[in-house]
Amino acid sequence: MTTLEATLKERFGFEAFRPGQKEVIEDILKGHDVFCMLPTGSGKSLCYQLAGELLGGLVVIVSPLVSLMEDQVEALRLHGEKRAAALNSFLGREEKERLLRSLHECRFLYISPEMLQSERVRRALKRANVTLFVVDEAHCVSEWGYEFRPDYLKLGAIREDIGRPPCLAMTATADEKTRADIIARLGIAHCRLHLYGVDRPNIAIAVEKMDTGAEKLERLIELVTNLQSPGIVYFSSRKAAEAVHAVLRSRTKVRTAYYHAGMDAEERLLVQNQFFYDQLDVVCATTAFGMGINKANVRYVIHFHYPLYVNAYLQEIGRAGRDGKPSVAIALVAKEDHLLPERLIHREFPEVDRLPALIRSIRTAGSALDRAAAEAVLTEAGLSETAGRFLVETLSALDEEGRKPLHDVIRRIEKRIAERKAVKFRELSIMREWLETTGCRRQAMLRLFHEEKAGNAGDCCDACGLDLNVYRKPCAQGRETPLLDPWQKRLAKLFGCAAPAR
Ligand SMILES: [Zn+2]
Repeated sequence: MTTLEATLKERFGFEAFRPGQKEVIEDILKGHDVFCMLPTGSGKSLCYQLAGELLGGLVVIVSPLVSLMEDQVEALRLHGEKRAAALNSFLGREEKERLLRSLHECRFLYISPEMLQSERVRRALKRANVTLFVVDEAHCVSEWGYEFRPDYLKLGAIREDIGRPPCLAMTATADEKTRADIIARLGIAHCRLHLYGVDRPNIAIAVEKMDTGAEKLERLIELVTNLQSPGIVYFSSRKAAEAVHAVLRSRTKVRTAYYHAGMDAEERLLVQNQFFYDQLDVVCATTAFGMGINKANVRYVIHFHYPLYVNAYLQEIGRAGRDGKPSVAIALVAKEDHLLPERLIHREFPEVDRLPALIRSIRTAGSALDRAAAEAVLTEAGLSETAGRFLVETLSALDEEGRKPLHDVIRRIEKRIAERKAVKFRELSIMREWLETTGCRRQAMLRLFHEEKAGNAGDCCDACGLDLNVYRKPCAQGRETPLLDPWQKRLAKLFGCAAPAR
């Protein structure tokens, strides 16, 4: 038995590595930068945890969500690793100081990209012996870095600043372009690539098209009433998530809640916990829900609104079936849906004709380099959070080169907006093309990732033939459920109560 296998057994209690893990760990131990794409549920975190045990020193893990950090710390503690901590905004000032002073006693430190911007934190990390810099959920660099969470784009520079420890970037899904972008942004051009398939054969894929939003809603009611729970329904807007939740509550017996980033932390935590402990059948959520939720038995993911990018779609449906059991992903698409994604993309940027006034108001209040103050000015002006952040970031990057005349600044920001919108619309068109696929949906999806379909455990997709009975709730034995409404009758025919279970 090699040292690696012995450590695996001794520290983690596993007999053998899962595909990819050992190769990744070996490259980390050799001191290489590593980019690894391992599917959800394949034990990504074990890679840096085991490597960290052997490397010694401090492993810094950049993680996008507080809940994700806390889960990981908890999991490590369960394995007997007490030297794990999370540095996040929930810590009080004193706790934070205490943690920073005792970093030498720490083996695994989870931290957000925002927290890494703090001079105090970076000074402490410079003094600590950081042996590995892990970027978990690395697709966030490319997906969020440009507009929503710009601190993600600074991770490369921060790694330099704290002494350039080897970097491990990990994600479950990133197509070729996204991978190239992440690697460039993190400054790990010579990294070793470890790419394992994105396919999740136990998740059947379906796209259902309808004419109107009202039809879509009826279909959603049918589905959540009859599909085996728990499930997640994704929406692009907070308002829609709340409204549909209210409809489900009044018209079905399923236990439902809504979830989005506009709720306060306690409310969100409550929904997460209720869902985790099977006290809810379905959560109507925006994409804010799911990344930190390590729930194995999610049986379905329905998209009431389709996401803007294929990567996001794969991430979201990947929250189903982590236990390997048959699960289903259904995207409901109505004709009128096509306006929403376009509106969402435009909303991520300030309107070009408002730029002069907006920039003047930032400059009147001070400078874009004072980011918090500048963002406050823009929120006051009614800009969306993402658009405000984009403008402040772009403007402060320009101001750092020295203050330029207004017309020059505006011209450069306009150009930047046009470039970023073009990228986003290109991505959106790929997503839409996929929704229009007439052949096998899995094959078409995998081709975007340069993969081939390996065969299926159960159902593949609606184009290959899909039997929704497999995903239905078991019927009460020997008793016919009374079916009163016309849609319920239709559904009985469709699902067939007595259908044999597979
Ligand atoms: Zn198929």
